[in-house]
Amino acid sequence: MGKALIIGCGGVASVTIHKCVQNSEVFEEICIASRTKSKCDALKAKLDGGKTKITTAQVDADNVDELIALIERVKPDIVINLALPYQDLTIMDACLATKTHYMDTANYEPEDTAKFEYSWQWEYRERFEKAGITALLGSGFDPGVTGVFSAYALKHHFDEIEYIDILDCNAGDHGYPFATNFNPEINIREVTANGRFFQNGEWVETKPMEIKRVYDFPEVGQKDMYLLYHEELESLAVNIPGVKRIRFFMTFGQSYLTHLKCLENVGMTSIEPIEFEGKQIIPLQFLKAVLPDPASLGPRTKGKTNIGCIFKGKKDGKDKTYYVYNVCVHEECYEEVGSQAVSYTTGVPAMIGAMMILTGKWNKPGVYNIEEFDPDPFMEALNKWGLPWQEDHNPLLVDADRIPETEKELVAEHA
Ligand code: NDP
Repeated sequence: MGKALIIGCGGVASVTIHKCVQNSEVFEEICIASRTKSKCDALKAKLDGGKTKITTAQVDADNVDELIALIERVKPDIVINLALPYQDLTIMDACLATKTHYMDTANYEPEDTAKFEYSWQWEYRERFEKAGITALLGSGFDPGVTGVFSAYALKHHFDEIEYIDILDCNAGDHGYPFATNFNPEINIREVTANGRFFQNGEWVETKPMEIKRVYDFPEVGQKDMYLLYHEELESLAVNIPGVKRIRFFMTFGQSYLTHLKCLENVGMTSIEPIEFEGKQIIPLQFLKAVLPDPASLGPRTKGKTNIGCIFKGKKDGKDKTYYVYNVCVHEECYEEVGSQAVSYTTGVPAMIGAMMILTGKWNKPGVYNIEEFDPDPFMEALNKWGLPWQEDHNPLLVDADRIPETEKELVAEHA
């Protein structure tokens, strides 16, 4: 049916590529292009022999001209951006110049400022519309499936959604005292930033990890979770009409938080360049170099993830609650595609998003967040391609399990 150019060949891309090869009816041909071509070649060698034709290429995705030349040579129907958030705009520029559909899993973030927001990518709306091409933003799990869950809840279960709590729980254990489950630089930038949530039309800011709750996750059990700012909050606040509050919580174990605080205190998480032996280095990039490569966590990680959304709102004039979530098992993901569940839960929706565009199920020129499309074919595909979802019409609510104020203060003090 189509040809995809996949940019990046890290943890997430590896899963997406495995899934494209499983789905060869849609992905007849893929080209894997990244900064380090040897990684693309190694993956090609592993996956060659199936129905999907695989080629590889070297590309610096910070360079628009290089990207244009590559797209002109490969002639893909869609570019799947699985490099880093820093490359979003250069890849979008190249897609515009060549009139090629675009998709990513994370919104743009300038390399020198730890600030991510959609404004930069939303600015491309008119240009993509005029070019007759689609940009699908944020087709991972969160953002991604959480937006699809929201659109699905609104379409099938509510007349009005008033409250959304997004709960991201990773109960996996990799056995290291400290490691991040995806790109350490991106992960640490996210969790050391201030928290923020949307309430009554305004953004409320918190200190990093200031708000803690305990939640009893289905199939996982009780976990501590902390309020973070996460990129889908920005688009859902716009795209879910009348929503009063949206929050995002992620689980962290005490050991992770203690290590992070220590690294922060000694300056290792800073993105300000410093001089070291006559060379400018960025401490966070150096830290990334000494931490375990997320791709190496696959064989070591055991346990489950549970990511989902709890909605509260009105249906036929009555109050209603609804929880939809996916549970994924690290070991099973590793057995299937050689990656742990964090890469898996992102890589599968990336394949599905690209499939929605290639099959014409999602077809509107312009720049869109995922919740702006019909959720039904995506929800169906999640069940088929490895991320089945479950529903609960009477879930435990987040604040039902509120922890005592004294404990909250203690946590804030140590966080
Ligand atoms: P990795 O660091 O494992 O992989 C990134 C890949 O991009 C590497 O292959 C890297 O090449 C390549 N790359 C980086 N810079 C360039 C460049 N300038 N030109 C070409 N290639 C480049 O990251 P992950 O796979 O963990 O994450 C990929 C994306 O997924 C990130 O944007 C991340 O934010 C996003 N993500 C989204 C989630 C969601 O749920 N929505 C969850 C988790 C991640 P090299 O091998 O040379 O380093």
